Amino acid sequence: MNEKLVCAQCAASYPVSVVRYECDCGGLLAVEREPITAGPAIFDERRASRRGIDASGVWRFREGVLFIGNDLPVSHPEGDTRLYERFGVFFKHEGENPTGSFKDRGMTVAVTQAVRLGARAVACASTGNTSASLAAYAAQANLKSVVFIPAGKISAGKLGQTLAYGATCLEVRGDFDSAMRLVREASTSLGIYLVNSINPFRIEGQKTIVWELLQDLRWKAPDWIVIPAGNLGNTGAFGKALREAHAAGWIAKMPRLAAIQAAGANPFYQSYRQQFASRFRVAAETIATAIRIGDPVSHDRAIAAIRLTNGVVEQVTDDEILAAKREIDGAGIGCEPASATTWAGVKKLRAAGVMRENETTVCVLTGHILKDAEAAVRSASGRTIAIEPTLAAVEKALG
Ligand SMILES: *Cc1c(COP(=O)(O)O)cnc(C)c1O
Repeated sequence: MNEKLVCAQCAASYPVSVVRYECDCGGLLAVEREPITAGPAIFDERRASRRGIDASGVWRFREGVLFIGNDLPVSHPEGDTRLYERFGVFFKHEGENPTGSFKDRGMTVAVTQAVRLGARAVACASTGNTSASLAAYAAQANLKSVVFIPAGKISAGKLGQTLAYGATCLEVRGDFDSAMRLVREASTSLGIYLVNSINPFRIEGQKTIVWELLQDLRWKAPDWIVIPAGNLGNTGAFGKALREAHAAGWIAKMPRLAAIQAAGANPFYQSYRQQFASRFRVAAETIATAIRIGDPVSHDRAIAAIRLTNGVVEQVTDDEILAAKREIDGAGIGCEPASATTWAGVKKLRAAGVMRENETTVCVLTGHILKDAEAAVRSASGRTIAIEPTLAAVEKALG
């Protein structure tokens, strides 16, 4: 019960029962609580039992996620994704979540909180995956959902998914960043609960990506955790997850974070190159539409995460992203373009001598291969050959 919203900038605090996304001083808020006493033993027992909400890879860690007492969360369930070992690194596949991206881990918590706050409608700006996840969880909770998307800039699959779950889509004539500004304004003046990653409850759910991968590795911390970096909610969440896991003694050492941006959407990389002396805004362009973001909302949270973990920020080009995606797809795993930044980043950081091959490295694949079918077809190593319906044509095509 001891949870509160604390400003990362001025340390002011607010009760979790109020609707609030930022501090009066403008700083981002985080859910903070007294030290978590539950630990690996109980988490492992819950994972093995799979009873009720223990089957969820989010709510299994509930003492560190959200105090819900005897209430039932709005859960599919989600999480409990696989860890694959390929090319000498691990891939934690968050595309195996119910709507095909890690966003479900944050959304189960944010929508549970929306219900507790008595919200009637929920909203977000999205490059596609947040909107699909929001629409699904809102449908389950019987809430109206409104999503703000940049017109013509999200994949057909993500848009179709969002509409199918019943959301109202506002196609904003502008980029993601203008859709983000608009939804912040609209949610305040229309009294709609905002569930972008500015929402501190989303962050609490996304921490469990890290906690579950530590559990997958039997609580032996890896040397590196690598993630795509767009709006930077996840980078911030990973830092908080590691701080709390380390403070609670679940892991003995602190892994290093590597946040990877697309070169065409690299404001955080630019800031990193200047030791975070200034904040950058760019006009974003990349094939990795999930991270096509020029003015990331969780900039400050992400700085804290990189500093805490002695982390690094790298950038990769669209060609490097597609080459890495071909390898991940070719290994039979598959992911959407944004997720492939991780493997592209590892290759680049190894070449630069920052990472070494004997270090344990976990790449987080954030989205499913079918999330962006157009990109999958475009970068595919397999080929399509049109033929007449005859055996001779088959032999000729394969010969
Ligand atoms: C949302 C998303 C990201 C970016 O995460 P941020 O928290 O915005 O940095 C990366 N990949 C995929 C597939 C996503 O859906």
